[in-house]
Amino acid sequence: MTLEQTLPICIAGTWRLGAGERYASCYPATGEPVAWLNAASLDDVEAAVQGAHQAYVHSGWAQRKPHERAAVLYRIAELIRQRAEELAQLQRQDNGKPINETRALVASAAGTFQFFAAACETLEETITPSRGDFLSMSVYEPMGVVAAITPWNSPIASEAQKVAPALAGGNAVVIKPAEITPLLALQLAQICEDAGLPKGLISVLPGKGSLLGDALTRHPLVKRVSFTGGTRTGKHIAHIAADKMMPVSLELGGKSPTIVLDDADLDHAVAGVLYGIFSSSGEACIAGSRLFVARALYEPFMTRLSAAAAQLRLGDPADERTQMGPLISAAHRESVERYVALGLAEGGRLRLGGERPSGGVFDQGYFYPPTILEGLGNHQQVCQEEIFGPVLVALPFDSEEQLIEQANDSLYALAAGIWSRDYKRAWALGRKLQAGTVWINTYKQFSISTPFGGWRDSGLGREKGRLGILQYMEQKSLYWGMNQQPLAWAGVEAGQ
Ligand code: NAD
Repeated sequence: MTLEQTLPICIAGTWRLGAGERYASCYPATGEPVAWLNAASLDDVEAAVQGAHQAYVHSGWAQRKPHERAAVLYRIAELIRQRAEELAQLQRQDNGKPINETRALVASAAGTFQFFAAACETLEETITPSRGDFLSMSVYEPMGVVAAITPWNSPIASEAQKVAPALAGGNAVVIKPAEITPLLALQLAQICEDAGLPKGLISVLPGKGSLLGDALTRHPLVKRVSFTGGTRTGKHIAHIAADKMMPVSLELGGKSPTIVLDDADLDHAVAGVLYGIFSSSGEACIAGSRLFVARALYEPFMTRLSAAAAQLRLGDPADERTQMGPLISAAHRESVERYVALGLAEGGRLRLGGERPSGGVFDQGYFYPPTILEGLGNHQQVCQEEIFGPVLVALPFDSEEQLIEQANDSLYALAAGIWSRDYKRAWALGRKLQAGTVWINTYKQFSISTPFGGWRDSGLGREKGRLGILQYMEQKSLYWGMNQQPLAWAGVEAGQ
């Protein structure tokens, strides 16, 4: 297939051109097109959902035994691994992340399918303690058509986290990937079909979220939405879900505090803080974007941190040594720049970065360097709003009381990090921080076996974990009568 040819999209088992506008997925390191495709149209949304419903009702997938569904999920994991390098290279081009990072995302996607295959075949339904002449059970049923709406920052890993448990639970899935990064979701759909998933159970609808994601969420046959993306979009989806009485999970934004206590191991803290904010060029919901440092340590710590940040290798995502690639788009880089200008206007100072790099590859792509702002208060806008770029705001603190108050003073509550040699102190602090995930002496580490999600404006519900599969199933209680006699109330005697 040549670059100029238009890629087909997957609509309920049929690969055909979308009926929407033609557009290109572009490589953020050069701005050049990687592939052309047609967006889906509203009619395509209808066809995908109707097709998914038909496949759900007629393919027998929902009725397969858990170990039989698991066998397909294991094959999906295997095929992702077989095609890992090709997928990682495509992902690098689709969203501009450094190759080592896209390899990790592909490996994570394979691990997710493997994990939910195992969770599926070992999921236990329970016999509950009986409180009468009956046997009572709690069982789980598939829901039907599930919508998976994903952002641009970690394609294939985000999609796998939704598609794997949804399929494991016996459902059909319609994926709405971010408009600008559609390629990996399409590959995943192809892999699912190659692995033997009945046709129609998976569809991919590239294009505008405000049109397609909205229509998908409102569709009466869509029984659940799993959304990852911005808080504003998440709230919009929550309103639609409320009207439909539809369960929804929302993985949203963050403004996570990273805390360096005065007894921290500084080597570990410097490495962890750097990784927490600058890996993925800060385009991560869990980025540790607010740094709190004990005042006594502030100057020496910031000197070390800034020196190490200045050494980070920003550049060509195809280069194995690159640590930070470009930002996703020109518009997003401008938004990051506006936040840095705002921080300065609010009275902040630049400790590092703050200016576009230039020359060579930097003149083509949307690069932005590691940037550190200081001299600001936690209440200021750059400390409260998600920048989603490589911008760290550093704040000294004087007491733990003040620290806890400020760290928790945010609409977001997704993650937090603590650096301290004293595990009891870190434990006590960790329990007081309001966040879905708290890392102690580490940061941005993930396990598919551990639940993940946010409090407050950072989201609703949890993904991952063995029981993550249950989010895509409806619970049902079954009672089996064991009475020797008719129910006493009616006064009917046996044999009469
Ligand atoms: P976004 O909210 O703009 O878009 C996310 C997805 O929603 C895209 O597929 C988009 O097309 C779709 N969408 C947009 N408008 C919609 C609507 N009205 N109805 C239905 N769907 C719609 O977010 P983004 O810019 O793609 O991603 C960045 C955001 O995602 C950041 O805020 C980041 O923190 C968040 N994020 C959160 C997590 C997490 O797990 N908590 C992980 C990654 C990213």
